Amino acid sequence: MSFSFPVSPAVKTRLEKLGLHGDADLALHLPLRWEDETRVTAIRDLLPGQAAVVQAQVIEAEVLYRPRRQLVASVADDSGQLIIRFLNFYPSQVQSLKPGRLLRIAGEARGGFFGLEMVHPRCQAIQPDTPLPERLTPVYPTTAGLSQASLRKLVDKAMQVADLAETLPAETYAGMDMPGFAEALRALHYPEPGVAPASMESGESPALRRLAFDELLAQQFSLRLAREARAQKRAPPLTPTGELTRALLARLPFKLTAAQTQAWQEISRDLAGTRPMRRLLQGDVGSGKTVIAALACLQAIEGGMQAAIMAPTEILAEQHLQKLGSWFEPLGIELAWLASALTPAQKKQALARIESGAARVAVGTHALFQKGVKFHNLGLAVVDEQHRFGVKQRLALSEKGAEPHQLMLSATPIPRTLAMSYFADLDVSTINELPPGRSPVTTKLVADTRRDEVLQRVRAVCLEGGQAYWVCPLIEESEKVDLQTALDTHAMLQAQLPELNVGLVHGRMKPAEKQTVMAAFQANQINLLVSTTVIEVGVDVPNASLMIIEHAERFGLSQLHQLRGRVGRGARESVCILFFQNPLSEDARTRLRVIYESSDGFEIARQDLLLRGPGELLGARQSGVPMLRFANPERDRDLLERAAQLGPRLIEQHAEQVAAHLERWLGARSKLAAG
Ligand code: ADP
Ligand code: MG
Repeated sequence: MSFSFPVSPAVKTRLEKLGLHGDADLALHLPLRWEDETRVTAIRDLLPGQAAVVQAQVIEAEVLYRPRRQLVASVADDSGQLIIRFLNFYPSQVQSLKPGRLLRIAGEARGGFFGLEMVHPRCQAIQPDTPLPERLTPVYPTTAGLSQASLRKLVDKAMQVADLAETLPAETYAGMDMPGFAEALRALHYPEPGVAPASMESGESPALRRLAFDELLAQQFSLRLAREARAQKRAPPLTPTGELTRALLARLPFKLTAAQTQAWQEISRDLAGTRPMRRLLQGDVGSGKTVIAALACLQAIEGGMQAAIMAPTEILAEQHLQKLGSWFEPLGIELAWLASALTPAQKKQALARIESGAARVAVGTHALFQKGVKFHNLGLAVVDEQHRFGVKQRLALSEKGAEPHQLMLSATPIPRTLAMSYFADLDVSTINELPPGRSPVTTKLVADTRRDEVLQRVRAVCLEGGQAYWVCPLIEESEKVDLQTALDTHAMLQAQLPELNVGLVHGRMKPAEKQTVMAAFQANQINLLVSTTVIEVGVDVPNASLMIIEHAERFGLSQLHQLRGRVGRGARESVCILFFQNPLSEDARTRLRVIYESSDGFEIARQDLLLRGPGELLGARQSGVPMLRFANPERDRDLLERAAQLGPRLIEQHAEQVAAHLERWLGARSKLAAG
């Protein structure tokens, strides 16, 4: 992709900053808004604060030096006078404001000391018969050093020379009541006055829907082709003997749920195949994903290969180590532990055991898999809480083996529309039920003023042998303040509940210190655990049945759901208390209502998607997957369904058109989606 007309290197650099690399990109660079310059307003009729166009003659112009250097001119039409003022200007502008000259002046009028004035209006010297534009004037997102006027000219040029022909066969759009591609672009760049351009957000404009649909199709093509390319690669088939997996299942104190069994079968079948698995295992918090990951590791070992498990935090990695250790060691399987707290000698030993193949499973945080870890023969990589990882980090791991199978675990359920769009290159298994015997968590919204009652409840629960979490809020601006809040809360609770053992865990602690505290909590030596949000992900202490979250209004929906999921894991009746502080913003009120009314992770994720867009859920996906600029999968659900349905058929029957479509929409970026 490139420009088919001359563009200076300086301008090119700025266009690249905007992500514009060629004609098609410029044509697809849509306005933020439009200005109506199709009508001339008499100076007498100008209203302060309103954008307008006047045609007036220059009376006089001068450069003033007080209070600072500025160019001030007075202009007039038949109805009145107006001051125009420039704080930055070129000498040529002074020249262009010669008395007697007729100008077309566009800007926003405001009341000044000397009557109405416009600051930095756009001025154009005209003849009395110079026609007015017939269409609205677009205003584009731009960058420093690239004026609106220059960018507008570049887009105009691109709109003339770019190939705006249809890329896909007409049947693609059959019955959809949408304009053609070129027509849609023209309608958005240069809307007719009166036909007020439907706002970009509402998504109702047929022109915008057409672009959204094309974009969704491009995304489908790109992700499906990436998936096909991957299917051409070979992975080691991990043939199950059933020996180890059966032994683990026999030793578990529970039976798999139907949903777990189904997910396990899907994964097991993939692992036995020669295509590299890229499967996302999603299930609500507490649905039992870990045991499925463990079974997958065992199948890798049965197939004669190694497995690795990466977790986003040391606490979680440590928990996996303990859990898997307790399951695997009786089966005679060695684990290697990669933690930042290891001594150099321990670390060297762990790496050696991984490289020699003595360790069948390696557990650690992703950071530890970055540097110099060599596997003897890695067959499976499990990535827990996949949305917390960067794509690069995942790739770094996949380069460790030939082309290992990958299983990604996600505790944040991915709404169907997202699974169908951004995740279309992955296979998805879903655990849609919780293990039996879970007591539902009762959620209570409690005003911050009722602390005493809550303290009494904590005391009662802990004295009966239960345990509780007390989560302190995250204060974005300062990690120091966060820490202080946690320290203060810890001291306060310890003072008010002297009969309890109150522990503290926060992000600034050394990994070893964190582990010690978590182990003590796990062993019920700590009754009440005060923490910052470090416990958000994955911590599993079934005996804990009370969760208190301070300033719940500051947390995101999925964060609250994750935190609440730390309780309700044992037989004890569980309660989650959300302290909030008035006044609540509209958004905070909605979040608290959703979390109070729903305990279904899928519904909560959908609400989150509507409230905040897909950013959070995508996390890692952002750098590797074509992002959507025009389409919104939740809003444009109908378009997405159709794109997903048409995608495979178009790829199969119209490969060339599909390639042209991808080139137009993604250009260089279409190559990023693989992996
Ligand atoms: P998550 O999906 O959030 O990672 P975990 O894998 O940590 O959930 O499982 C939560 C708890 O449920 C663990 O203590 C686990 O041993 C237990 N568990 C998993 N599957 C079952 C089951 N089928 N029946 C009963 N308990 C189960
Ligand atoms: Mg988990």
